[in-house]
Amino acid sequence: MLERTYVMVKPDGVQRNLVGEIITRFERKGYRIAGLKMLRITPEMAEKHYAEHVGKSFYPGLVEYITSGPVVAMVLEGKDVVAGARKMMGATNPAEAGPGTIRGDFGLDIGRNVIHGADSVASAQREMAIYFTEAELLQYEKAVEAWLYE
Ligand code: UDP
Ligand code: MG
Repeated sequence: MLERTYVMVKPDGVQRNLVGEIITRFERKGYRIAGLKMLRITPEMAEKHYAEHVGKSFYPGLVEYITSGPVVAMVLEGKDVVAGARKMMGATNPAEAGPGTIRGDFGLDIGRNVIHGADSVASAQREMAIYFTEAELLQYEKAVEAWLYE
């Protein structure tokens, strides 16, 4: 299924110069970048984004972390990209994320896990709407797609 997902390099990923590395991994996989921007998340946006976690013990630290510096937000498109991008990110806790995954390769702590990715098609829709207008998501084709899809 051709899908769109929402992915974000978190403030630690930006500070640690991992933006290029992370985008490169998704590009090389074959996903198409439909939208891309750098921004600083406000506490209001953080509350919207992480609504499901409001009230949990880690929530205040999570908001502090996610608003602590710029993030790089992107929308990726491709076959089964929601689950595929999550697989490439690895488990939430980098200690449990396998080698070869982004969190497994670049993270140590659950509260500094470098990247966010939507966990379902519905979450992706909801999160995209927080960060992008429809006009900011570009529809285009790349010649390489004939070599990516049969
Ligand atoms: N988080 C944390 N401590 C926890 C659980 C989660 O700091 O015990 C943070 C972590 O940054 C994680 C985010 O909260 O990525 C959202 O948690 P979720 O369970 O949704 O994990 P994800 O979907 O990001 O893998
Ligand atoms: Mg989540």
